[in-house]
Amino acid sequence: MTERMLKFISLPQQTPQKRAASERRADFDEIYREFEPAAARAQASRCSQCGIPFCSIHCPLSNNIPDWLQLTAEGRLEEAYELSSATNTFPEICGRICPQDRLCEGNCVIEKGFESVTIGAVERYITDTAFEQGWVQPIRPAAERRESVGIIGSGPAGLAAAERLRARGYRVTVYDRHDRVGGLLIYGIPGFKLEKEIVLRRWKWLEEGGVEFVLNADIGGKISFSDLRGRHDAILIATGVYKPREIGGPGAGLPGIMPALDYLIASNRHGLGDQVPAFESGLLNAAGKDVVVVGGGDTAMDCVRTAIRQNAKSVTCLYRRDRQNMPGSLREVSNAEDEGVNFTWLAAPEAFLGDTHVTGVRAVRMHLGLPDASGRQSVDPIEGSSFTVRADLVIKALGFDPEDLPGAFGEPELKLTNWGTLKVRPGTFETSLPGVFAAGDIVRGASLVVWAIRDGRDAAAAIDKQLSAESQALAAE
Ligand code: FAD
Ligand code: SF4
Ligand code: SF4
Repeated sequence: MTERMLKFISLPQQTPQKRAASERRADFDEIYREFEPAAARAQASRCSQCGIPFCSIHCPLSNNIPDWLQLTAEGRLEEAYELSSATNTFPEICGRICPQDRLCEGNCVIEKGFESVTIGAVERYITDTAFEQGWVQPIRPAAERRESVGIIGSGPAGLAAAERLRARGYRVTVYDRHDRVGGLLIYGIPGFKLEKEIVLRRWKWLEEGGVEFVLNADIGGKISFSDLRGRHDAILIATGVYKPREIGGPGAGLPGIMPALDYLIASNRHGLGDQVPAFESGLLNAAGKDVVVVGGGDTAMDCVRTAIRQNAKSVTCLYRRDRQNMPGSLREVSNAEDEGVNFTWLAAPEAFLGDTHVTGVRAVRMHLGLPDASGRQSVDPIEGSSFTVRADLVIKALGFDPEDLPGAFGEPELKLTNWGTLKVRPGTFETSLPGVFAAGDIVRGASLVVWAIRDGRDAAAAIDKQLSAESQALAAE
């Protein structure tokens, strides 16, 4: 092992510089600056090159982390890029938005008392440098194939599959109902976590590699699903989950109570320079308002931090469990707190106040009870503990469920699980319809970008296997 590694004993953990909260509040730029080359090399050299790398085991893509850390520490960045991009289609995106504290870094085993290697920041640095240096080349398949694959959805699952299939020579067309490529990467996740240029750069790269995009194409609406099946040898459904979970209670239908994704899409579109009437009219704009966000996941964190940047008068997050039991990343909670968000833990809305528009939320304090069969503690209201928070914009961020795809696609034979997600055969990603595959959130339920990439890549391998077998059978006839 090189003497360049194992520096964790003498060298403390250092993340790339985080911009001051006062500066961050004023714009939608990413909050971390890029690593300086020397700092990236030094931080990579903290890795102890474990025989059993728990970081890789807990990375959904099984990234070869110790090897690319070593190459980075040795200054062999082009090789580090080759290795990192062999298992991850979008390393610079995962390096920015994976919840590393729960995945690779949370399982980094450098000795107790020393903080983990900054794996995500190094991963991002390697690929950003590769783009700067021109090492990222368009996809060039060794041989072209005659079969074509249609992919519905240009989120990370669809794009990862598109890259893998195109690299194997298939003709690939990606359809999306939006006017830009990226799914939640472009319209859900705000720029302060993932600048839009990073997503647009990958769109261009895929086009240069021969992937065709058909945008503003709502499958099941403008183009029928059966029509699409007729156009391609295989179909991959990667449409994500978009049906927002609703809030009940008195006043829940008052104007001024908005779904989280509508709010985030309006903000992202505005940032991309689009005309957004609901943003300009103030309907989906927090400027000057008292904002209450209900929920404790990634979406809620993105909403509170967006509201701060839109110059809200106050921003409060109501979550019915406590900080330790919230689904969102704790790192994002600390960032939000630094930026001025008030968190009210163990509180849930009881009623929404106002006559013609919401003016406040009446909430009740909760306490955590005994764990259920899944180990999750129950949450119960504390009698007589109601309190009121002023609000002229309430954002509902309680998570998402799948839309009714068989209905929308006019395909009653498309089978669902009990959770409403698409049912696929384990290992093959094939749905109940022959030649129709599915991947990403629409199969897994609301999850993470890194899992969508993993599923997209695996589904592409399964499609390739099936189409290759069919073409060999045809050739043998
Ligand atoms: P999506 O990204 O949802 O893409 C699906 C695409 O399908 C969309 O472009 C949609 O327009 C298109 N589509 C749907 N129906 C049709 C149709 N009928 N016809 C044509 N096109 C259609 N994960 C992380 O790892 N880190 C984070 O920080 C993070 N933050 C998040 C913040 C928010 C606000 C949200 C909502 C999610 C976040 N996630 C995060 C989760 C992550 O974004 C998703 O798990 C991931 O994007 C799922 O990828 P996908 O490709 O399955 O679906
Ligand atoms: Fe960590 Fe995500 Fe990168 Fe895997 S893909 S190494 S989990 S940041
Ligand atoms: Fe290096 Fe940590 Fe992975 Fe071990 S677990 S190989 S120290 S990054």
